[in-house]
Amino acid sequence: MILIRGAEVYDPAHAFSGQIRDLWVDGERIAPAPPEFGTPEVIDGSGTILGPAGVEIHTHVAGYGLNAARRSLIGDPALLDLLTPSAETAAQRYLALGYTTVFDAASSPLMARLTADDLKRMAGLDRGTFTQLGDHRLLLQSLASGDLQEMRDTLAWLLSVAGGYAVKLVNPGGGIAWKGGQPAPGLDEPIGLGNLTQRGIIQILVRLVNEMSLPHPVHLHAGWLGRPGNAAAFCETARALEGQRAHLCHIQFYSYGQDKNSSFTSAAEQVVRCLQEYPQITCDVGQVLFGTAMAISFDTSSISYLQKATGKSWISRQLEGEGGTNVLPLSYQAKNASSAVQWAVGLELLLRFPDPTRLFLTTDHPNGAPFTAYPQVIEWLMSRPARQEMLKRSHPAGIHKTGLAGIEREFSLDEIFAMTSWGPAKALGLTDRGHLGAGALADLRCYRKQADLKAMFSHPAWVMRRGRVVVQEGTPLEQDPGEILTVHPSWDQDRMRTIYRGLSKLVTVRPEDYALGVDRDRQISREVPCASTMS
Ligand SMILES: [Zn+2]
Repeated sequence: MILIRGAEVYDPAHAFSGQIRDLWVDGERIAPAPPEFGTPEVIDGSGTILGPAGVEIHTHVAGYGLNAARRSLIGDPALLDLLTPSAETAAQRYLALGYTTVFDAASSPLMARLTADDLKRMAGLDRGTFTQLGDHRLLLQSLASGDLQEMRDTLAWLLSVAGGYAVKLVNPGGGIAWKGGQPAPGLDEPIGLGNLTQRGIIQILVRLVNEMSLPHPVHLHAGWLGRPGNAAAFCETARALEGQRAHLCHIQFYSYGQDKNSSFTSAAEQVVRCLQEYPQITCDVGQVLFGTAMAISFDTSSISYLQKATGKSWISRQLEGEGGTNVLPLSYQAKNASSAVQWAVGLELLLRFPDPTRLFLTTDHPNGAPFTAYPQVIEWLMSRPARQEMLKRSHPAGIHKTGLAGIEREFSLDEIFAMTSWGPAKALGLTDRGHLGAGALADLRCYRKQADLKAMFSHPAWVMRRGRVVVQEGTPLEQDPGEILTVHPSWDQDRMRTIYRGLSKLVTVRPEDYALGVDRDRQISREVPCASTMS
């Protein structure tokens, strides 16, 4: 047994907010204090802050998009390493920051093998990927047909054969429209498959996924990403969910108003007000930081729009029977009005949103910034002077066109752990982590208390995974292989003939080789049961 003695303990799930308390670890899990203890291994926690390890809900660290992005960064090794590190390096950096569970935000079935190979290399973490199905013709055809059982079987099979953990929808129907030379459809325009609309796709799939009790609900990347004035359309999408459980990702990119010159203004207040009406919805922020970033996204319509706006070269790969995946270099400059507003909007959303167990810290790595910037964002949330200082150094639009300057709130450590551990763990249906209750996985992070918050969160004193210290003072120690988390909802085997017949008309890959293929390697993958009870 291990006894961690005398640390300030933070556990928002159990209302511990900095009390000095002993924590017991037995094997891989947190244990109640034993009635008798012989000679446990003691870790001295005095002068430290102890809480559950971080849980990443939205990042891009695996699969084809990363390789495409690396091609456009050839010639700048430092940037390449910062924005598109290898899968192994990304895993090590997450561990060093105190994160032990990491989800890659999108992989489509035809790209599943490359993603799976990358995930296998991310030892030391629990990790997984979400399967992008928002432009999958076979699935959308079944939706258009209206046959509920066929939809359910097709969805379950696709998710399982692609090795996914959850269903990702990226501007659903937009990729099909783009291939047809059409602008991305609004919520209620037919996408070109009968009467099926984006609203229809979202509503049917959100309901199906919740009925199937997948651990994580539909992870939705809405339409109109990154455009001035998109907040109204975004709120309309949130309302289209009709109060059902769902996750809306990188909402900073959808929280814009516009002034009379069609320039960005903040609509953070309006978006927060709208989201508060739907307690079943969780979100992550997609914070922007000043510097070079990289768009990696299946949202061809939006990336093509951004490409025209920036004039930079992009790489767009379109897939048969699915949408496409795209990369585009981005630059956010402190002295640029749009960038300053985008930076302020992310912080404004986090600071205005009252419940940190529903809106999580992400940078949509590397779309807004590398994930290694989290400690800097935490400092801005916890210290008003720190963010005011940055605000002063950025374009005046950050002050005049957003509400950030007037916000007094400073996050507590409690709220930081809620936003980076317990909240995302719960949203992912992984209630075995993100908290310190007896029986929870002993995945912990410990910081030495200091006034410099950015330095403190950048360098944990130690990080524990499954009851073993895996990083000590920044030095990686022996690590376990970790697990790849997947779901395997069941489907009617009689449906396979229909699925194979449909697939053979859409792709040149043999149906039995499609996605991970029938002989996929499940060695280190662990199936998470479809019995989520979280709300
Ligand atoms: Zn993303």
